[in-house]
Amino acid sequence: MPATQTSKRSSAVEAFLSEGPHRLFIGGKWLASSKEQTFETLDPGAGSVLSAVYDAEKEDVDQAVQTATQAFRKSGWAQMTPNVRGVYLHRLADLVEKHKPILAEIESLDVGKPLGQATWDIENFSATLRYFTDLAVHIQYKTPIAASKHEARVVRHPYGVCGFIFPWNFPFLLVGWGISPALAAGNTVVIKPAEDTPLSTLYLTRLVKEAGIPDGVVNVVPGLGTTAGDALAKHPGLSRMSFTGSPEVGRLIAESCGRNLIPVKLELGGKGAAVVFDDVDVDTTVDALCGAVTLNTGQVCCTATRWLVHESIYDRFIDRTRSRMATVQIGYWNDPQTQMGPVVSQKQKDRVLGYLQKARQEGADAVVPGGEAEVPGKPDGFYVKPAVLAGSPDNIAAREEIFGPVPYLLKFKEEDEAIDIVNRSKYGLANSVWSQNLDRANRVVESLVAGNGWINAHNVFVHGIPYGGVNLSGLGGGVLSPETLFDYLRNQSVVRPL
Ligand code: NAD
Repeated sequence: MPATQTSKRSSAVEAFLSEGPHRLFIGGKWLASSKEQTFETLDPGAGSVLSAVYDAEKEDVDQAVQTATQAFRKSGWAQMTPNVRGVYLHRLADLVEKHKPILAEIESLDVGKPLGQATWDIENFSATLRYFTDLAVHIQYKTPIAASKHEARVVRHPYGVCGFIFPWNFPFLLVGWGISPALAAGNTVVIKPAEDTPLSTLYLTRLVKEAGIPDGVVNVVPGLGTTAGDALAKHPGLSRMSFTGSPEVGRLIAESCGRNLIPVKLELGGKGAAVVFDDVDVDTTVDALCGAVTLNTGQVCCTATRWLVHESIYDRFIDRTRSRMATVQIGYWNDPQTQMGPVVSQKQKDRVLGYLQKARQEGADAVVPGGEAEVPGKPDGFYVKPAVLAGSPDNIAAREEIFGPVPYLLKFKEEDEAIDIVNRSKYGLANSVWSQNLDRANRVVESLVAGNGWINAHNVFVHGIPYGGVNLSGLGGGVLSPETLFDYLRNQSVVRPL
């Protein structure tokens, strides 16, 4: 159901957009790229150009890594005590909160997501930054070891320059998840935002400067994956790398890091399952799962895209799903009625519609057919309707990540059968189990192979609880937990024989 009413952009955001081409941020300065070429970033809700951005080349990435290396060695950042670094990082979190309305509007415009969702993303950034900043004050940097005839301790140091490559679905939130532990631990960073959505990260550079974080500690090189991204992943000056995105590109990043022998974190795609038993409240469960799969227009790596429903409630579940999906308000980001915005690009729209076609060709039932959506006044926006498919677990839409609002329904009878279907997936990011029988829910969730298992909820992110994937969904320890902070500290054993 398309929503209609829209309002104008704020003058602060208009002013920011009109300052394009937006520049790289290296060593505390805003610079044009070496070849002065630019790329455009679009408003996916209108299909129109938002702003131009300088396109970082290999030479620019090289300059950014060298500058970050100097800052690691000379700026004093790495040597500060965590509470002193914390003053700068809390100041940055304060500034992000102060600029929340502008950042949220920029994020909504660039990604297409409704303003309320973008606002949550910005709030989550500052909460993540504060979480790791406070954690860094309370961990031990020197741990004595009881060893016979030796005086020994482990000392924890920051690594050096950490590279980060991010995707377009949660551009600002994911920068927070990525760089917060690295900075709190005393590392310096070089960030390559996604070319589809670089604007909020570029706005962040102003706040980094205003917070007084030493020049060169945070550097941003917007650019294309195959040039700037490739140059960053291969750079021999990095001490660590972190990549969030598709498994295909994740493999390339891991290869480069393997050659340079540096640790890498990969946060990759998913094909999350929701296993729904017969004792649930059908209406509430359908509503929660429809909300999960339409969040960010289905462009959520861990969302529930395979819904395994017990056969005794399957027909009621389908009826409720049909009626619930028909109420989803599709629209522009600043329409208060909008529940679901566009997908991020024409390429992503083609991908979603292409999967619907392939799934039908392979015999899937179109419970809700989906397809292109029209939003009044926005004929060139990249809008799709939610679709719901059903059928064999071997169908392409039941196996591959579509990255759109398209759940695939599967019927099961026995608990073991459901577990077997879920674990056939090559992904392993997040699954959920829905039942009032908590013994059963706990038993089943622990037998599902994934980094995250949720009970009677889906898409749960809490600071302090590790979030990461296994198999095709990632490696390297994940994010958001105390372990993540330790991942950004290298261990040194110091020993004196007695
Ligand atoms: P993508 O892999 O196409 O791009 C991600 C980033 O990699 C972009 O910045 C891109 O410019 C860069 N890149 C592309 N080619 C590159 C190369 N050859 N070398 C270096 N960098 C390169 O992914 P996407 O389409 O932006 O994002 C969608 C994917 O991200 C989905 O698979 C989704 O599940 C995944 N994702 C995972 C998580 C998680 O936490 N596990 C979170 C968000 C998104």
